[in-house]
Amino acid sequence: MKYIPLSNRFLELGRQFYNKCRPVPVSAPTLIKYNENLATTMGLSSDDFYSSDAALFFSGNQLFDSCEPLAMAYSGSQFGQFNPQLGDGRAIYLGEVNHPDGDCYDMQLKGSGRTAYSRNGDGRSALGPVLREYLVSEAMFKLNVPTTRALAAVTTGEEVARESLTPGGILTRIASSFIRVGTFQYFASSGDLKSIKKLADYVIERNYQAIQDVDNQYLEFFKSVVERQAKLIAQWMQLGFIHGVMNTDNMSIAGETIDYGPCAFMDEFDRNQVYSFIDRGGRYAYSNQPSIGLWNLTRLAETLVPLFSDDTDKAVELAKSVLQSYEGSYDNAWLAGMRDKLGLTPDADNNEEDKRLIESLFEIMHVKRADFTLTFFYLSRLDMKYSSLDKKFKALFDNSESIESWLSKWRERLTKESLTNEQRQLNMQTVNPVYIPRNHLIEAVIRAAEDNNDFTLFHELHSVLENPFSLQEGMDKYMLPPEPEEVVENTFCGT
Ligand code: AMP
Ligand code: MG
Repeated sequence: MKYIPLSNRFLELGRQFYNKCRPVPVSAPTLIKYNENLATTMGLSSDDFYSSDAALFFSGNQLFDSCEPLAMAYSGSQFGQFNPQLGDGRAIYLGEVNHPDGDCYDMQLKGSGRTAYSRNGDGRSALGPVLREYLVSEAMFKLNVPTTRALAAVTTGEEVARESLTPGGILTRIASSFIRVGTFQYFASSGDLKSIKKLADYVIERNYQAIQDVDNQYLEFFKSVVERQAKLIAQWMQLGFIHGVMNTDNMSIAGETIDYGPCAFMDEFDRNQVYSFIDRGGRYAYSNQPSIGLWNLTRLAETLVPLFSDDTDKAVELAKSVLQSYEGSYDNAWLAGMRDKLGLTPDADNNEEDKRLIESLFEIMHVKRADFTLTFFYLSRLDMKYSSLDKKFKALFDNSESIESWLSKWRERLTKESLTNEQRQLNMQTVNPVYIPRNHLIEAVIRAAEDNNDFTLFHELHSVLENPFSLQEGMDKYMLPPEPEEVVENTFCGT
C-alpha cells in the first residue's frame, strides 16, 4: 500500500492556499471498510487492496511515500453570514491519484486531527458521522448523483467529546475536487485577484478540460459550474434529498454533493422539511434548495467578475446573464428527470401539461404526507389500466379522491406514449429507487456501531444500497418507512 502514487498540484499554487500539516496519530486504528470498487475505478492495482497496514494509512498514522499533506484555506457564507476564516479544520488533503485516462481523484482524511484551521474544534470526527457519510455518499453514487465518495473508514480506538464521549472515526474521502465556492470567497475577501485567477486555472485544468481552449474561458467556466449545480440540485429534489447545510463552503466547484453532515432523505413528503438541528429558520429546507443554489452561485459570481472583462459594467452584465440561465437549466433538468420518473417522453407540446401533472402529484404527496420513495416505487410498477397494485399506491395517500383522479390523468397522458407497458415500467424502475439510505436505518447502524462495536448492520445496509434500483429478496425492511417510534426528527453535523 506504500505505493498509492499521490501527486499534489495544489501544493504548487502557493502558500496562501493552505497550511502544511500532518495527521495526528491515533492509538488503535481498525479498518471498518475499504472500498475495493472505488479503488479499481481510481486505477489502483489490486496489490493495494487488503494490505495488513491499510488501517495505518487510512487513519493517517502512516503516510503514503509521496504524500505531502496539507489543510486547505477557505471562507464561507454560513446561514447567510460571511465567515472569512474557515478552512479544513478536521480534514487533511493527501494529494491526488491520476488515472491514465485523465481523471483525477483527490484524497482527503476527515477526522484526522487538528489543523491550522481548527479554531476551537478538536479536528476529530465521531464514528456516527463517518458511517453516515460513507453510506450516504456511496448510495448517492449508486443513485447516479454526482458526489464525493468514500474509499475507507476506520475506528480510531479513541473517544471524542460530543454531547457525551463517543467512539471516534476517520473517513478517507475521494472527490474530483475539494475546492469550494468558499475557496474563491477566501481570496476575494482580501482582494487577491491573482490567486483567484490561479485557482480558476487550477480548477479548469483539472475539472473543466472541455473549456480550456475557448474564448473568455472564465465566463465559460462559470457557466459550466452553474449548469452542473443546477442539474445536481434537480437530482436531489427528485430523490427527496435534503443536504442540510448548503453553506458556500459546502458547495463543490466541481458540481458534486459534498460535506454530508446533517443530510437526510425524506420519508413522508413535506416540502418544508428540515432535519438539521441547527437550521432553526429552515433556510436549507427541501423546497429552498434550488433558490439557495442560486444564492451561493451569486456569491461565486462576485468573486469571478473581475476575470470576465476589464470593463466592470460589462463583466457584471455577463455574470448576471449567466446567473439568469440557472433557473432555465434547473427547470429543464427537473422536468426531464421528473418525466423519466413518471414514464413520460419529452415532447415540447406537452411541457406545460406535464409540469402541471408532476406538480399536482407533489401537491397531493405533500397534503397526504405520502412516502417519497414508495410513491415512485409503486408508480413504476402500475399498469396502464387498473391492477391490484393500485391499492398499495393509493393507500400511501389515504385512498383520497385526489390521488384517484390524478391516476386517471396520468394514465390518460400515458396513452400518448408509444412504449409498451412493460418497457415503460422497466425504464421507470431505472430511475426510481427501491432503497435509499433512510434516516432510521442509518440511525440503527450508528447505534449498533457506537454502542456495541457491531458493524453487521453497516455492512448489510451498505450492500443493499449497492443496487438501489433492484428489489432484493429478504430485504423488505430496507424499503419500508420508519415505524412511529423509529422516526428521526433531527440530524446533527457531528462537529
Ligand atoms: P461543516 O459545515 O460541518 O462542513 O464545517 C464547517 C467548518 O467547521 C469547517 O471549516 C470545518 O473544518 C470546521 N469543523 C467542523 N468540525 C470540526 C472539528 N471537530 N474540529 C475542527 N474543525 C471543525
Ligand atoms: Mg464543510
